[in-house]
Amino acid sequence: MAHVKLHIPGPVEVSEKTFKAFCSPMIGHRGQGFKDLYAKVQPQLQQLLYTKQLVYLSTSSAWGVMEGAVRNLVQKKVLNCMCGAFSDKWFDVSKKCGKPAEALQVDWGSPIRAEAVDQKLATGEFDALTLIHNETSTGVMSPLTEIAALKKKYPDVTFIVDAVSSLTALPIKFDELGIDVLLAGTQKAFALPPGLAVFAVSPAALAKAALAKDRGYYFDFVEFQKNAEQSMTPSTPSIGHVFALSSKLDDFFAEGLENRYARHQKTNQMTRDWAARHGFVLYPEKGFESVTLTCVSNGARPGGRTVDVAKLQKLVKDQGFLIDGGYGKIKGTTFRISNMGDETEATMNQLYAALDKAMAQL
Ligand SMILES: *Cc1c(COP(=O)(O)O)cnc(C)c1O
Repeated sequence: MAHVKLHIPGPVEVSEKTFKAFCSPMIGHRGQGFKDLYAKVQPQLQQLLYTKQLVYLSTSSAWGVMEGAVRNLVQKKVLNCMCGAFSDKWFDVSKKCGKPAEALQVDWGSPIRAEAVDQKLATGEFDALTLIHNETSTGVMSPLTEIAALKKKYPDVTFIVDAVSSLTALPIKFDELGIDVLLAGTQKAFALPPGLAVFAVSPAALAKAALAKDRGYYFDFVEFQKNAEQSMTPSTPSIGHVFALSSKLDDFFAEGLENRYARHQKTNQMTRDWAARHGFVLYPEKGFESVTLTCVSNGARPGGRTVDVAKLQKLVKDQGFLIDGGYGKIKGTTFRISNMGDETEATMNQLYAALDKAMAQL
């Protein structure tokens, strides 16, 4: 069967070079070969996350680390900042982990604002908060810098940040932001196969985790730190993913991070322009649009054109491209186009040509 190229917001298209690296001959995870591999990617990851802390590798999907963060770092009560499907779910997950949790819910399409977080934290009830930087379901990017600035006012609150669909597409400076956990799954903006998450934890959060009684084993942050100090992981990782990561990091630095960030800005703007050209409006509140995907309104917002999304998807798929038909409660009243990963102006133009052709048939 012919491959349909992925322009959904994760997983995204994986390059042949990455797949080749993924298929490297197997090595033992306690041997020097693996330690050398981890020691090679460590400084690259630290540069990517702008941190001096060790960056951990968890060959789980992102949710493993998201749940792990709650288990390691919530003692009193967690504030779950919610603005879409993924951030909403973190509230459920917190409760499923048996943690007292409170929702800071805003309408889908809106960002989380620092003032609202400040108001909640001022109650003194919380010792942790979860925030999704780039809410993939709605295409909304919340103002991370402003929210992270609250850490100074609330130093005892642990700031847990998911950058699953934004990390590598724009600078997210872990140490400078002063947050406690920064995590990303790699099937989104990294353009690796699904099954690997990378994350960093502040020394204060590590000290807090060490006191948590029921943090379990598989996602014990203290174990990750101890093992990372030896260039190892707590349990047997998916070693293919680490080979693939190494290859991908080389790609990032060969391109240059600044160039990579600029490329995402550019290709995302091109998608917004495509939508405007066809009379669509965007779903996110103005000024808070993601740079890695575009959530196009198809009736969810007043004004703007509407089309039969299922038909649009099919017409585009017949030309070899997969776009997303909207997520959760905005399925069909929105659709999403991803520009994450390796996409360039040239490859995006191929997608727009297919979309144009499909639109002409609707
Ligand atoms: C995809 C996604 C997740 C979930 O990732 P999994 O790899 O499926 O566990 C979490 N947060 C955000 C923002 C996402 O886009």
